[in-house]
Amino acid sequence: MNQITNTRPTAELQALDAAHHIHPFTAQAALAKKGTLVIREANGVWLTDSDGNPILDGMAGLWCVNIGYGRHELADAAARQMRELPYYNAFFQTSHVPVIELSARLAELIPGNLNQTFFASSGSEANDTNMRLVRRYWDLRGKPEKTIFVSRKNAYHGSSMGSASLGGMAAMHSQGGLPIPDVHHIGQPNWYAEGGDMSPEDFGLLRARELETAIEQMGEDRIAAFIGEPIQGAGGVIVPPSTYWPEIQRICDAHDILLIADEVICGFGRTGNWFGHETVGITPDIITIAKGLSSGYQPIGGSVVSDDVAAVLGRDDFHHGYTYSGHPVACAVALENLRILDEENIIDHVRNVAGPHLKSIWTAFADHALVGEASICGMMASLALTPDKAARAGFKAGPGTAGLIARDFAFANGLVMRHVYDRLVISPPLIMTTGEIDTLADRVEKTLDQTLARLKSDGLFEPA
Ligand SMILES: *Cc1c(COP(=O)(O)O)cnc(C)c1O
Repeated sequence: MNQITNTRPTAELQALDAAHHIHPFTAQAALAKKGTLVIREANGVWLTDSDGNPILDGMAGLWCVNIGYGRHELADAAARQMRELPYYNAFFQTSHVPVIELSARLAELIPGNLNQTFFASSGSEANDTNMRLVRRYWDLRGKPEKTIFVSRKNAYHGSSMGSASLGGMAAMHSQGGLPIPDVHHIGQPNWYAEGGDMSPEDFGLLRARELETAIEQMGEDRIAAFIGEPIQGAGGVIVPPSTYWPEIQRICDAHDILLIADEVICGFGRTGNWFGHETVGITPDIITIAKGLSSGYQPIGGSVVSDDVAAVLGRDDFHHGYTYSGHPVACAVALENLRILDEENIIDHVRNVAGPHLKSIWTAFADHALVGEASICGMMASLALTPDKAARAGFKAGPGTAGLIARDFAFANGLVMRHVYDRLVISPPLIMTTGEIDTLADRVEKTLDQTLARLKSDGLFEPA
């Protein structure tokens, strides 16, 4: 049906891909040998590969296709905007209708005093903006020494130099000389992996108070901001203990430190509220948005700042901007996406229908012999695989071996499910029906059974 992507047989596409396309986060040589999976089209929650096989998308693309695939209203919005005004910038004291409408709509949707948005084309760019914007803010407030960002180990904030530094991914920091200076990482609120004998509540407080320790060590006058995902996504869908975020909020307030909620995954309905910071009960000074803002139909992100931050920043020039900041086509598509999320009550669907249905099935997976923990918040969920439930042990074969086996079984079962080391992760489109959730659950269960059998037959069901 599509003359660009459907002209060649799969093997030929794979060969060209291997020869000319460098994949993100991939060992190229190994992939070239195996051959990439080519996705040709999608509708609703279903992908179709280049051989016509249907695959259930348990990841909403990459945590982003919140309204599902195939919404022609977004294609029409893009086409209309391209005909009317395909591009214009906001650098020359100029603006245009889609960016104005989208900025105003976001101010309406986002609670509290977060009313002004600086646009980017991705979450990474938006977090880079946050780094520059926050330092500029403290500079203008006469505190130019406040330059340090405190983040968490195993956080994900993007892949550019700045945002990957803000992130706490050890594998990313091991390449290319990251993190850049003045980013400090404290422990993550991952009770399952790191909480030992403590109660989750006590562990949540302990990890939050590492922020206070960092402040004592480096000085309140040096620390600019704390950044965190309300619920860690790429780190393995880590739902923090309930004590964690209120304590972080208390510490930020007590020490005049800006609080940044990275809402790139949690935003736009995924946790059962419009924004993840509502779900965890905090009031950030800045939020990062991307992914679900356009349901991935166009690349767009942004930093939404409080009235206070906006007022200070507005006193003078801010030497920062992207050619595609507030791109009209991306803004028009985002507006249409927000209209659909709102008018079709998709957040209510997550909170009252799809989320509770998935939760009842998902939490029961904790009884499976291979599962040490089943975590879920709204429509993001994970399973920690273990050979020893009581000890919450890892595998003797090393982190990621069991997870990869499970991921490969999932794909073979017609389900896109991701693995983060030995945590299996899903983040399906928010519009998933209860029937489709049942199909997903059947495939997850089959995958767990097959993985357990394989681990046992290969002698890999052994604790580290
Ligand atoms: C994906 C992600 C980013 C980076 O967004 P890109 O659009 O890939 O640059 C930032 N923060 C979080 C929490 C993310 O999940």
